[in-house]
Amino acid sequence: MDLKYLPEEITGLMEHHGHLCFGVLLGYKACKYAVEIIGESDKMTVAVEKDNCGCDAVSFVLGCTKENGKLIITGGNKEVWLFYNQEEEEGVKLTVNPGLQSQLPQDKDQALKMIMELPGNIIFMAEPYIDITE
Ligand SMILES: [Zn+2]
Repeated sequence: MDLKYLPEEITGLMEHHGHLCFGVLLGYKACKYAVEIIGESDKMTVAVEKDNCGCDAVSFVLGCTKENGKLIITGGNKEVWLFYNQEEEEGVKLTVNPGLQSQLPQDKDQALKMIMELPGNIIFMAEPYIDITE
């Protein structure tokens, strides 16, 4: 991928993670979309099923890590993100839109670029979610 077309924040994300991949990019988009819905807070908790590339995006965008206890890995195999803003007492559950895969171009770089440009509400399905810490 031609790096000069990448937004600065994505370049930072890539450096933080070590490479650019679907996992980290989806995690990034999930965090951004969640913030749009429930707002940003120091008291944000995130739960994901899989401990994978997306977790690096969560620590990069929201500062939630396993170490500080704000990122919880629940175990499982689905690409699901649960975000909870304790300040606003508002949470959202994001799952990847099942139709997305078939819309993506075959070329990996093209597909990454498309994910980068698509709005969160096209990539994810969002539903309200209650406190994940209880
Ligand atoms: Zn990765």
